[in-house]
Amino acid sequence: MAATVIDGKAFAARVRGQVAEHVARLKEESGIIPGLAVVLVGEDPASQVYVRSKGKQTVEVGMNSYEHKLDVDTSEADLLALIDRLNKDADVHGILVQLPLPSHLNEDMVINSIDPAKDVDGFHISNVGLLGTGQKSMVPCTPLGCLMMLRDHHGSLSGLNAVVIGRSNIVGKPMAQLLLNDSCTVTIAHSRTKDLAEVVGRADIVIAAVGRPEMVPGDWIKPGATVIDVGINRIDKPEGGTRLVGDCDYASCAAVAGAITPVPGGVGPMTIACLLANTVTACCRAHGLIEPQGLTA
Ligand code: NDP
Repeated sequence: MAATVIDGKAFAARVRGQVAEHVARLKEESGIIPGLAVVLVGEDPASQVYVRSKGKQTVEVGMNSYEHKLDVDTSEADLLALIDRLNKDADVHGILVQLPLPSHLNEDMVINSIDPAKDVDGFHISNVGLLGTGQKSMVPCTPLGCLMMLRDHHGSLSGLNAVVIGRSNIVGKPMAQLLLNDSCTVTIAHSRTKDLAEVVGRADIVIAAVGRPEMVPGDWIKPGATVIDVGINRIDKPEGGTRLVGDCDYASCAAVAGAITPVPGGVGPMTIACLLANTVTACCRAHGLIEPQGLTA
């Protein structure tokens, strides 16, 4: 039987709709408008596209967007001073520093200078610790989007075998932690894992977050498993030009899986939707108001 295609584009539109409703209610009932500040250092073309897209979607759901574009040679002191101002600004509920930063800036130091309550990317060491101990935190956007889709598809994830391929701080590790918090039995695989095919073959849920085009073939997948493909890889087309593919070989995986996310149109659109969700959640927490349901872990 063909796999159910988990439509991340439609799901993300639903999440944005819920965020917009909550923002409208906040405005009406409390006169509060959530605000998201995005800081971009330098002119990396991909980062510029992300930042533009984030700003546009922030405004579309009724929130305030504050964009700070800094020169590529901005000093660490100047960047930290800006973050300090944003930390103190009551109109700013979420702060995102677009990564990667130019090499002269210490990413860890910059991220850890953000007020954890405003850290809508969930990368601050306090949020990492809170997530790791199962406490209320800001959750990284891409894994949060994957979790929302999995919960929607499965209902309860309790007792399912989950394999996360990739152990990065922004995707693999927080994803594994979220699945563990939802009572999955979690295996984290990486470049040193032995017999990855056998490990993946045991999984009811496979999360691929590697960055290697079409690395996971369908014959690794247990029949009926759910495949969440986080990878975004651009490859050359034989006829010229390029196309986007995931870390899973879509056709062969879809032939075996019970459900699968496509690339593009799967996990990708959920990431910005979850950023907006985190911003409204941060705003509600800052004001001691009820958080939107279903928009956080
Ligand atoms: P990283 O490069 O930081 O991490 C990749 C991970 O894959 C590492 O843990 C690495 O292992 C592991 N890995 C590499 N090769 C193999 C292999 N042959 N077998 C098993 N594991 C392997 O990547 P990210 O986590 O940042 O991103 C992963 C992918 O997700 C990329 O394609 C990225 O573009 C995409 N992405 C998509 C997002 C979205 O919004 N949809 C958001 C963020 C990322 P080791 O640690 O041993 O080196």
